[in-house]
Amino acid sequence: MDGRPHLKLDAELCGRCPQGVTGCCAAPPVVAWADLGRIVLLGGRDWLLAELAAGRLYPCARGLALQRVENPDAAATGRAKKCVHHGERGCTIPPDRRSATCNYYVCDEAWSEAGDTRELRRARASQERLTEDYARWDLLLGERVRARHPDGPPWDEAFLDWLGAELSSLWAL
Ligand code: SF4
Ligand code: SF4
Repeated sequence: MDGRPHLKLDAELCGRCPQGVTGCCAAPPVVAWADLGRIVLLGGRDWLLAELAAGRLYPCARGLALQRVENPDAAATGRAKKCVHHGERGCTIPPDRRSATCNYYVCDEAWSEAGDTRELRRARASQERLTEDYARWDLLLGERVRARHPDGPPWDEAFLDWLGAELSSLWAL
């Protein structure tokens, strides 16, 4: 496993997001199978269970969805709701507890405003490769989850540990 699955892009442009202070955290991404496996491998299994118990994460077809809450900036942003983890100064949870998309996504508008340097082209290539990798891992893990738990996963310690181990086996390929 290399460090790539944990890539985090720091985009200062998000601080001036054209969509306002809520940015794309108004519509948080699914914490999908590969994200969950990665969080488990980074020591977050019990954190996931606590988030599930608190209702900040809840089961959906592709893994777990993030709860959305009332947005205090709704009037200024036009976004009535936002991710439960979005605070006044952005995300309130560390990168190793976020979905990979939260860590590496930067929209086309932000990229085009950033300019065109060699470093930025490399960062963008990494983002695109990672998007493809996570899509592939999610597809494979989703098939394995459905084969093992046709009625839906039990969302317990054993299942999450298994998910981490399965992701690790994909990274080893
Ligand atoms: S990625 Fe784009 S839309 Fe999302 S917060 Fe950054 S600038 Fe805003
Ligand atoms: S987890 Fe953090 S980065 Fe991801 S949508 Fe929620 S607030 Fe935004």
